[in-house]
Amino acid sequence: MQSKWEENVRKVIPYIPGEQPKDTGIIKLNTNENPYPPCDGVERTLRDFRVDTLRMYPDTDSTELRDALAERYGVGYEQVFLGVGSDDVLSMAFLALFASDKPVLFPDITYSFYDVWADVYKIPYKTVPLDDNFRIDPDKFNQPNGGIVFPNPNAPTGVLESIDTVEKIVSLNKDSVVIVDEAYIDFGGVSAVGLVEKYDNLLVVQTFSKSRSLAGARIGFAIGSRQLIKYLNDVKFSVNSYTMNRLTQACGLASVLDEQYFCDTVKKIIKTRERLKDELFSLGFKLTDSMANFVFASHKDVSAKVLFEELKKRKIFVRYWDKPRINNYLRITVGTDEQTDKLIEALKKILSERGV
Ligand SMILES: *Cc1c(COP(=O)(O)O)cnc(C)c1O
Repeated sequence: MQSKWEENVRKVIPYIPGEQPKDTGIIKLNTNENPYPPCDGVERTLRDFRVDTLRMYPDTDSTELRDALAERYGVGYEQVFLGVGSDDVLSMAFLALFASDKPVLFPDITYSFYDVWADVYKIPYKTVPLDDNFRIDPDKFNQPNGGIVFPNPNAPTGVLESIDTVEKIVSLNKDSVVIVDEAYIDFGGVSAVGLVEKYDNLLVVQTFSKSRSLAGARIGFAIGSRQLIKYLNDVKFSVNSYTMNRLTQACGLASVLDEQYFCDTVKKIIKTRERLKDELFSLGFKLTDSMANFVFASHKDVSAKVLFEELKKRKIFVRYWDKPRINNYLRITVGTDEQTDKLIEALKKILSERGV
């Protein structure tokens, strides 16, 4: 029975994040975390952190971190927006930039948080079908809309679109804001950051969670025109001004300053990813050419659901969605070389047990 007051409640079906098991013996390849630790500078920052400063509120503008990001990406300080993870950035962007009666467009197979934000903020939306190879047809985004959002590379497919395709979508839609969610761009793609000078309706969103090994610290950012970033900040400061704490700001800064470690870590993951693709292919998997820190794979003889459950029994966690078009695929995060060996070994056993 529904109580009377419940009529006044905003009801939503929340996003379901990947499982975070307490058991430490698990090979965790289900939420695209980086298998390597953050750079040494982050450890040093935490060790030397002046605890007495926690008495005081943090810098609401995260000035040092924003400055460092502006320098790293060759844009102005006023072109950088910071959030508590890119989920926070994207959520603020939906709230601030998609205030139209026309539908927001995103691919039919994509990050499953987009429709949740649209629902919670009561934003109409429409999905645009990807083709059979999970590719975006930019012409399909040439229709009336109140905004556009898509990840590049896409999630959970890992498929990367060229910068020309991205530019085509932005240039076809100068009357609405286009958000490119670049959570995985560092693993082999070309960022659209270089286009923000040319298009004031483009917002590029990135995160420290994957390529910078800081998922637990919660840092995301967006780069766009000064005007766009001002609108975003106006809404952010109307919701909560002190979102990013002092510790996080300091760790984020340390991470941006160690470019060498960032490059080395990304290179290692790309190398392991390509090996993982080859090994899975030899085992009879069909794969997208993922340019992210995960692979997206489907086996010709054994269903993804069975593989998911069998791997779980062996304490290897990957991701599976029982959703149209992708319900025979596994999304597997690229781990260390050692984790990859164990994964391949487990898959070989599971397949041979089934006579494959
Ligand atoms: C991981 C991910 C995010 C969110 O990451 P944060 O940890 O909140 O920064 C956003 N978009 C996509 C497509 C992702 O895969």
